[in-house]
Amino acid sequence: MSGIKRLLICLFMIFEVLCEGSGMTEKHKVVLVCMAPLSSNLMSFVAGEVSTNLETSSRIEWQLAETDDPYTNLKHLKRLAVDGAVVVGLMAVPGELSFRRVVDSDARVAVLNVYPLMREDEKMSGPDYAWRIVKETTLLAAQLSGFSPCPFPLCVLHEVKTLSALDEKSRNLCPPCRMRLGLESEMSLPSDMGK
Ligand SMILES: [Zn+2]
Repeated sequence: MSGIKRLLICLFMIFEVLCEGSGMTEKHKVVLVCMAPLSSNLMSFVAGEVSTNLETSSRIEWQLAETDDPYTNLKHLKRLAVDGAVVVGLMAVPGELSFRRVVDSDARVAVLNVYPLMREDEKMSGPDYAWRIVKETTLLAAQLSGFSPCPFPLCVLHEVKTLSALDEKSRNLCPPCRMRLGLESEMSLPSDMGK
């Protein structure tokens, strides 16, 4: 092998290593674990939108929750957080005082209670409900991958407390967040349920 060729290969490898740390690549793939009575259509929709938002791959696992205790389930989910994957388990635990989410950043695992994402007058379906799960899951997956919440109120990575604020914020990342994730800075239009 000529010296120049070897040098070029060397430079290419250095370039690859430098690029690796800058974005949310396959290194941060998302595992969504359905532990709630959610349809496969809804789960596929959520997984697809989260993948698009974070430009990473995602897959769905089905696992019946044996308990309503989020910490026990969190422990069970840790085994899936391998090869750099982040894991978000979706549970449905009714009750006013039930949790909304529990996060273990070190283990890169979180559980989200989808029950509080529904208003009392709503059925557990419909576009609002699906988008709320998408937004919460996107935020959790990004946080587990090491990205801090965004201060811009309309960004999907902005932390909100109420359902109306959750509905108001965008389904997408704001341009600075997209740049933070090492993505192109162009803002894509929100996609619709029916696509
Ligand atoms: Zn943002």
